[in-house]
Amino acid sequence: MANLALKRSAGTGPPRPATCSAEMLQVSAKVLDTMREAVVIMDTKFRVTAVNPAFTDITGYTVVDVMGKRPPFHAALKKKGGRYAAMLKALKTHGTWQGEVWSKHKTGDDYAESLTVSAITGDSGEVERYVAVTGDITRHKEDEERIHYQANYDALTGLPNRFLFLDRLGQALANEDRTGTKLGLLFINLDGFKLVNDTLGHAFGDLLLKEASARLDACARATDTVARLGGDEFTIIMPSLKDARHTSRLAQRALDSLARPFDLDGQEAYVSASIGITIYPDDATDAGDLLKNAATAMDRAKNEGRANYQSFTRALNEEFRQRLVIRNGLSKALERGEFTLHYQPKVEILSGRITGLEALMRWDSPDMGRVPPVQFIPVLEETGQVVEVGEWAIRTACLQHKAWYAAGLPPLCVAVNLSARQLRESSFVSVVEKVLRETGVDAAGLELEITESMLMSDTEESVRALGALHEMGIRLSMDDFGTGYSSLSYLKRFPIDTIKIDRSFVADLATDPDDVEIIKAIITIGHSLNRKVIAEGVETAEQLAILREYRCDEMQGYLFSRPLPAEEMTEFLKEKMLQCA
Ligand code: C2E
Ligand code: CA
Ligand code: CA
Repeated sequence: MANLALKRSAGTGPPRPATCSAEMLQVSAKVLDTMREAVVIMDTKFRVTAVNPAFTDITGYTVVDVMGKRPPFHAALKKKGGRYAAMLKALKTHGTWQGEVWSKHKTGDDYAESLTVSAITGDSGEVERYVAVTGDITRHKEDEERIHYQANYDALTGLPNRFLFLDRLGQALANEDRTGTKLGLLFINLDGFKLVNDTLGHAFGDLLLKEASARLDACARATDTVARLGGDEFTIIMPSLKDARHTSRLAQRALDSLARPFDLDGQEAYVSASIGITIYPDDATDAGDLLKNAATAMDRAKNEGRANYQSFTRALNEEFRQRLVIRNGLSKALERGEFTLHYQPKVEILSGRITGLEALMRWDSPDMGRVPPVQFIPVLEETGQVVEVGEWAIRTACLQHKAWYAAGLPPLCVAVNLSARQLRESSFVSVVEKVLRETGVDAAGLELEITESMLMSDTEESVRALGALHEMGIRLSMDDFGTGYSSLSYLKRFPIDTIKIDRSFVADLATDPDDVEIIKAIITIGHSLNRKVIAEGVETAEQLAILREYRCDEMQGYLFSRPLPAEEMTEFLKEKMLQCA
């Protein structure tokens, strides 16, 4: 190695005398030649005066290439002006500087080097030259960057993952606090993704997720963070909101964009999305709560029939908290015997004769007390428990029918309410058959109440199931008539025996002439189609008088009897029957 004369390094200590013997020089040269680190000697303007062989190995440049020119790290540091200045300053004050930098290889490729630059001063204390020792740490840097990437980004979609999302959210919230601005958070769950995954396979599912990610990313601003939390769940952070309504605009854009068909390697697929929106600091003051709110609002969007967005509100939170408590309580309610049936008589208006009873479910929760069916039935439907609990209700009603008969009462038809979910079970008809067989009850002793909405959703299967039940001799009634589409075609297509006029029409019968007209019309239509018509929720003698006038067949309501527990109803029935006899 030429021109090598390391006299002493600059520093704070006293100057050392030059003691380099010829032997020492020889050893130094040998060491330099065999070192794995590159050594570059430069003049005071950082122009190369000598390099060792490792320099060529690392940078690709030969001695001839670089002699009199600046080494690669010089340009790399200059590009980042601040770092170059910092190096000069360190060299001036401490005589040495250390750092890491991405430099350019002769081929143009980037390589990472760890650098130690030292100033060499002469006897006078003036800097005479600089020497740089550098090692190639590209592999190490790449590993580090890969590890960083893997820890922060989702491998499939390249979007920030949950970890980076939470980090960015935390940073953004701190920033909003400083600037007093708001932040929007969108929680996005794809609808129908599972279907794509199950029918086309995971490879296509992955393609869809990638494409969906790209579309979401394209909808957002450059300052927004679109992240994938996992599965088919995404979030978008919208920092520095000028107007909270921008969140719903972005949500709508996302919905529109995801609604377009997906081309998955020639396979066409469709999904939609349910989106929850929450605003900081209006809805919550920390990241965890904010995320929970957004998820809650997303759940609401799912419940609202998917393919829509919902904003978080405090009322919504209370509702969902309540639902969660109910859901937990219901999980063991059946096995713990917390359900009972109450019974309400149906009465023939002309004769005053009791024609049957409706079984209405009650749940006595050890924690919450009596919970109204409108609160717990939808949760049973959601969890699917309604299938099992519904079977219990049919069985219990059948056993009650037998018990009454055994107590000397005439055979009383007991009506049980059904949920759409039960009717959708392919085994439903055979389950009813089994219950009738096991309890020894004749089909004529059982009635099933269904609603129009149940028929609207799954027509094909419902037609078949209801037809089979009717064939068996089970009576069917159409509940809450007038609140849905009230389509006459349902009455014609389905083997319905009885129409039950919804109690909302009965409630205002004495005061609202429109309701009188509606009830008149329902009774007329029902009779012309040979169906029996019953009015529910009859509370006053006045209502009853009007119903009688328009020839409504039967009535049910507080006027005659509230729904009662089985034992009380037994006493009630005995008394009434005695009166009639
Ligand atoms: P629904 O089938 O329309 O039942 C009639 C509702 O009206 C019952 O409410 C009953 O207690 C109430 N009611 C009866 N007479 C009167 C009256 O004169 N005035 C007023 N204001 N209300 C009266 P309930 O027991 O709270 O049940 C509510 C709903 O829960 C039922 O509406 C039904 O849809 C559902 N449900 C009840 N039991 C079951 C069940 O075993 N299975 C299923 N799937 N749903 C059930
Ligand atoms: Ca009913
Ligand atoms: Ca009803």
